[in-house]
Amino acid sequence: METTLVLIKPGGVQRNLIGEITRRVEARQLKVVGLKLVNASRATVEEHYAEHKGKGFFEDVVNYLCSGPVVAMAVQGTNAIKAIRTMMGATNPLEATPGTVRGDFALTIDDNLTHSSSDPEAAGRELTLWFPEGTVG
Ligand code: ATP
Ligand code: MG
Repeated sequence: METTLVLIKPGGVQRNLIGEITRRVEARQLKVVGLKLVNASRATVEEHYAEHKGKGFFEDVVNYLCSGPVVAMAVQGTNAIKAIRTMMGATNPLEATPGTVRGDFALTIDDNLTHSSSDPEAAGRELTLWFPEGTVG
């Protein structure tokens, strides 16, 4: 059993995709064990994307994630980390397979709608960052 972090980024919230994305997660028999709508602080987002510090797109992705409310969701299930990454699709929506969230609803890398943890270490770190109060799972 794994728990992973999903963020519906500001573009997804603005486009009213909260229900659609959450529906897909639940349809996969994964359990939502944490859920909130937040205006993320710059400090949280910089910590979230710490691995990308120094890269050319760092400022842009931080600004984007701070540009409006995001949904933070903790998702639990068997192989949840890989299952969710595969459902969300490739980072660049142009390479994302149709049927994935990005392949169905996104077109550009700077507005690719969701984040999901890449591995167990990242999932643990990100869940602590976004859910310091803990989850119900
Ligand atoms: P995320 O971490 O948001 O789930 P990811 O794990 O698929 O996405 P990362 O490599 O962690 O991709 O990149 C984080 C975010 O930074 C991406 O979602 C994307 O918006 C942006 N990004 C990544 N690579 C590039 C790039 N080459 N040019 C512009 N933006 C990029
Ligand atoms: Mg990533």
